[in-house]
Amino acid sequence: MNVELAAEIRFRCPHCQKLFCTDQTAFEGLKNNAEGADFQCTDCQKDFILTNHHSSSGLYETRELRKTQFANCPKCSALKPLGQDECPHCGVLESKFNEIQKVENPRLFQLNKAWQEILKDITVDKTHQYFLDQAQKQSALNFAAQKYNDLKKIMGEDPLIEKYLKQIEYRLDAHVKSQFLQSRSETPEAQQSLLASGRLFIFVALFGTFILIINKIKPLFPNLTGLVVAITVLSYGLWFLTRPSISKKN
Ligand SMILES: [Zn+2]
Ligand SMILES: [Zn+2]
Repeated sequence: MNVELAAEIRFRCPHCQKLFCTDQTAFEGLKNNAEGADFQCTDCQKDFILTNHHSSSGLYETRELRKTQFANCPKCSALKPLGQDECPHCGVLESKFNEIQKVENPRLFQLNKAWQEILKDITVDKTHQYFLDQAQKQSALNFAAQKYNDLKKIMGEDPLIEKYLKQIEYRLDAHVKSQFLQSRSETPEAQQSLLASGRLFIFVALFGTFILIINKIKPLFPNLTGLVVAITVLSYGLWFLTRPSISKKN
């Protein structure tokens, strides 16, 4: 048996049925989670995926690239055809709703806009990452998860949606951990030392004031007046700086 012939891969373009022929190198360098190799038909110029499965006839299976063309209603999240202004579910006009939201809640407006970009073609990773970055910046990762879960209800189980839900989980995890580290840096010990230094500063400041008053009545060391004034003012200033963070905690 001819080994070269056995390794031959024959497949058809799923759009125009043109027959192609290649070999196993087509699958080299593919990521583990990839469905198959990306191809563009030389005849009809359309993109498709060549999978690693072949039918009984020996032809390898190909699949059209999924291009989902729909959008979410910004108000009720129901799906509607891309480009349609009125929501068939709640009747809101998307253009009007966006105008109002842009003014009243610009951050939510930005997030919704990023989400609509995803829906134009959910296979583009870049738009997903942008949406997740924005959501994280606004502490709205739960909102992002909600969006993906809504999409899952409509599209059914999808490895792509699961992938991004996982990424949201990781981001939330990292967020909680960083919050924890931040709170640890403000330990009771740190607060105690701040409180102690605050007391020291106010003590020095009051003592300096006392010396200045005495000096006014009976000049004991007139040459040092300038220095005492400087130390007193500085101590008042430092005491004032350490004070607000303490009163906030109590
Ligand atoms: Zn074709
Ligand atoms: Zn709606």
